[in-house]
This record gives sequence, C-alpha cells and structure tokens, in this order.
Amino acid sequence: MRVKDKVAIITGGGGGIGRASALRLAQEGARLVISDVNSELGLETVELVKEKDGEAIFVKANVANPAEIQNLVKETLAEYSQIDILFNNAGIGNSEVKLADLSVDEWEHVIDVNLKGVFLGMKFTIPYMEKQGSGSIINTSSLLGFKGQKYMAPYNASKGGVIRLTQNAALEYGNKNIRINAIAPGVIDTTIIDGWKQNDRKWPIISRANALGRIGQPEEVANAVLFLASDEASFITGSTIHVDGGGLTF
Ligand code: NAD
Repeated sequence: MRVKDKVAIITGGGGGIGRASALRLAQEGARLVISDVNSELGLETVELVKEKDGEAIFVKANVANPAEIQNLVKETLAEYSQIDILFNNAGIGNSEVKLADLSVDEWEHVIDVNLKGVFLGMKFTIPYMEKQGSGSIINTSSLLGFKGQKYMAPYNASKGGVIRLTQNAALEYGNKNIRINAIAPGVIDTTIIDGWKQNDRKWPIISRANALGRIGQPEEVANAVLFLASDEASFITGSTIHVDGGGLTF
C-alpha cells in the first residue's frame, strides 16, 4: 500500500476530484479527514470510503474561514494525532462575464476560496508537519492557472497564484522535509463544468481542446494526487503536475 496509515485531509472532499482522491488514497491505506462546506456531499464521501473498508471522518469547514480551518486541524489531531497529507482541493468557478462587469464581491469570493483557502490550509497544518518532521501538501491549480481564457479572470488569477504560492511554500519548508506541490487539471468531468457542458456552442470545442481530444475523469487526477502524496515523490517539491490530456500544448 502506497500511503499506508498516513493521515490525509482533503478539502472539497465532497466534490468530484476530492471524492475520487479520497477513494484512491483510502484504497492505498490512508486514513482520511473529508472536509467540505457542503456537509451532505462530504458525508456521502465518508460513507463511500467506509463501504470500501476505508477509514474516514467528516469535518465541515469553509476553506476561506481561518477559524474553521483551525478547527479542521484540531479535529484531525483529536482523531488521528498526526497530519501527513493535505490536499488543498476545494475550489469554485466564476460567473462568465467580462472583467469590468464582474462585481467586487465575486472577485473577492473566488480569490478567498481558491487562493486564500490554499494559504490557510498550509498555514494551519504546516506547524504540525514541522513538528512531525514530514508532510506532503498538494495544492489544486488548473490548466487555467497557466493561460488566459476569456471571462475567467478571478478563477485564472487565483489558480495562477496557487502555483507561485506552492513554489514559495516549497522553498520555505523543504528543509523541514515537507514537500509542497500542485496539480493542474484540465477539463475534468465534475459538477464545476456543468455550465460549459450546457453551452452547445462552446462545449464541443472545450471538451476536445487538448492533445488527447477528450475530457478527463476525476480518477485520473486522483492518481496524480496519490503519487505526490506518497513517498514515491520523495524528491519532488515545488512542482506542478499537469493532468490535462496535453491541454497546455494545445
Ligand atoms: P466540484 O464542484 O465537484 O468540487 C468542489 C468541492 O469544493 C465541492 O464539494 C464544494 O462543495 C467544495 N467547496 C466549494 N467551496 C468551498 C469552500 N469555500 N470551502 C470548502 N469546500 C468548498 O469540482 P471539482 O472539479 O472536483 O473541483 C476540485 C478542484 O479542482 C477545484 O479547486 C477546481 O477549481 C479544480 N479544477 C477542476 C477542474 C475541472 O475541470 N473539474 C479543472 C481544473 C481545476
């Protein structure tokens, strides 16, 4: 087993990529803390993990709220007394409007969840990983963190920020044996892309805009998360793994 007995926190664990990663990590022996702002979805993931004989608890938390993330860390330590893996996965899209038509509130909300959320996750788990002398953090960026796409300004800015934040954090904590990497998924079949799917004009283009000519499945992202979380990635830090079917080459 590739992550046997390691304790992993997964934010946004009720969603497509978070859930697939929970199941994959549990299959390889990890003990999980599923966190989400949506309790129903998070608890469903816990049930699915348990159905496969995995170990998981649910802790509700909004990643943009410092007190709730502190509580998530506290509950994790109360249950398992250690934190080995943090998958900073929670994220949201934005209304597809031109930059000048975007409300300031929406700008702040997207940056709060997608970028500040990643900062808070690291801020409150790293002190425990430092004490342990080890840890692996995986932050979720996006193909759109690497290139522009019309009407996605706050999302793209937040996901680009995740890359730099990941590199900074990797530099600061490498000497504590904490590895910090990012993943950059392309178009993956989860509810976050429902709006695109319903757009008859855009979807045929977006769904094939990569070298493989298809969208990805959450399980294909989960495999990259498992690799980065495991000791197999022991000399990898500050990196971003693209899981995008070659979307960046397109
Ligand atoms: P999803 O909508 O299925 O899952 C997102 C989960 O995050 C949901 O369960 C939601 O309840 C939770 N969430 C939302 N706001 C939250 C908050 N403030 N605090 C805690 N939880 C919150 O989408 P997904 O595709 O599984 O997204 C996971 C991550 O992958 C996101 O960061 C997303 O930006 C990123 N991503 C997705 C794609 C894609 O095409 N699906 C591509 C690139 C990056």
